[in-house]
Amino acid sequence: DGDRGLTALLPSVKAFIGSPRKVLIDGKWVSAKNGKTFEVFNPATGQVIGHAAACEKADVDDAVKAARKAFDTGPWTKMTPSERGRIIWKVGDLILKYTEELAQLESIDNGKPISIARAADVVLAADIFHYMAGWATKIEGNSLSLSVPYTPGVEYQAFTRKEPVGVVAQIIPWNFPLLMAAWKLAPVLASGCVVVMKLAEETPMSGLRLAEIMQEAGVPDGVVNMLTGFGETCGAPLAGHPNVDKVAFTGSTEVGKLIVKAASNDLKKVTLELGGKSPNIILDDADLDVAIPGAAMGIFFNHGQACCAGSRLFVQEKIFDKVVQGIADIGKKIKLGPGLDPTTEMGPMVSQTQYERVSGFLTSGNEQGAKALCGGKPVSGNGYFIEPTVLVNTNDQMKVVQEEIFGPVLTAMPFKNVDEELIRRANDSLYGLAGGVFSTNISLAHKIANRLKAGTVWVNCYNIFDASMPFGGYKQSGWGREMGHEVLKNYLETKSVCVSLGGKL
Ligand code: NAD
Repeated sequence: DGDRGLTALLPSVKAFIGSPRKVLIDGKWVSAKNGKTFEVFNPATGQVIGHAAACEKADVDDAVKAARKAFDTGPWTKMTPSERGRIIWKVGDLILKYTEELAQLESIDNGKPISIARAADVVLAADIFHYMAGWATKIEGNSLSLSVPYTPGVEYQAFTRKEPVGVVAQIIPWNFPLLMAAWKLAPVLASGCVVVMKLAEETPMSGLRLAEIMQEAGVPDGVVNMLTGFGETCGAPLAGHPNVDKVAFTGSTEVGKLIVKAASNDLKKVTLELGGKSPNIILDDADLDVAIPGAAMGIFFNHGQACCAGSRLFVQEKIFDKVVQGIADIGKKIKLGPGLDPTTEMGPMVSQTQYERVSGFLTSGNEQGAKALCGGKPVSGNGYFIEPTVLVNTNDQMKVVQEEIFGPVLTAMPFKNVDEELIRRANDSLYGLAGGVFSTNISLAHKIANRLKAGTVWVNCYNIFDASMPFGGYKQSGWGREMGHEVLKNYLETKSVCVSLGGKL
């Protein structure tokens, strides 16, 4: 690859992808019981780069059994919170130590530029472990003041305890393979739960390496079990497993509904991080040096394969042409290429399926009369590349405006006044994951932020994430929140303990 100017793969990365990957069950790396494997592709070339285990129900059963044993018998659940916190912190340290290796795996497997994998995915993954390490020792209940009317004279001492919910099943997507695993695993460990995770079939590599790292950090056997396999044959039996106490899922809204059904048999707790079609609003008093690159980043970051992408742009009439042209100019300059090329600014779509899906949306937009100011086409040749695209002549009813494209495609629409109609249009979506407002009128920006039905609103910025900032959706974008101390609620039960102290002193 050297002669093509690609980052040379580390020997450890070559070795990692060079042999069929096993899965982690009860601290041991094993093949799928059925012996099956599946191919893993480099989306920049369409070539096979490795193989992963195609786990099915029998492997899910083993993994859930191991997790149940680890939860019921310790040592994990008998460790002090401080001991657990130190292990979680070490996971964060080791992620940073192996930055280059993880960034290379992420880039070759998912397609994202290596520079972004290093600077964003790996760093943010380490950060959530460091952040959650601190929470392990800060999980507290309350002391309560009782006034029981029907036992006069009797005094009570009552308090709440926060206890881990138990065996958690987690299923994640391919768009931020390492980071989605980290967002999910770190709070599980901080809360004292145990987990069986299923990685996305498109991108199993970095999550498997993370599981090794967690072992190296001292996570005991059975606490984190890491599976690879397909949705229907591995994800579905995991989501419906009778010995799982809670399911946490990130992926499409469509599959989220299947997860709820699977988990409903025995009323498992469920949290969901699903799709989005987020509005980004630019008022005519905005600083355009901030708003234009901000809106471009809002849609083009991670090739638009971000659930919170600012994909519905609303621009005030007076500045509409200038803003959309500015974003299109940025789009035209973005250098597409393989993720391992250090000069690449945008990689390919993750898979042929996604490439075809996004291409289908471009055709639909074109047929319904949208006009592309930049891009508008898939790139022919090897790899699953799509040109960064800005669509105008769009309206609220078009498929490209209503449905989540999950690609680098912005739909832009003008608006006249900052009024109820603007708020209605911005909220006119079955999703409610995120939104953005660009304005120098801070009071107005805050008012708009308050009115958006969205789990995150960015003002004069977009796609800013932090371990302390909860992330998740209103409406069909999901249930519950990731990150911040809020996420711990997903993994904790509250127990009220009420002690009678009897009458009189
Ligand atoms: P997907 O729903 O097809 O797949 C996600 C995961 O679910 C994969 O691991 C897959 O194997 C598994 N799965 C598929 N069918 C299943 C079934 N029947 N039972 C159990 N598991 C099953 O989604 P995708 O196409 O991989 O990811 C893209 C979607 O994820 C987008 O809609 C995006 O918005 C969403 N997403 C949301 C967030 C968030 O935090 N809200 C983050 C990233 C992605």
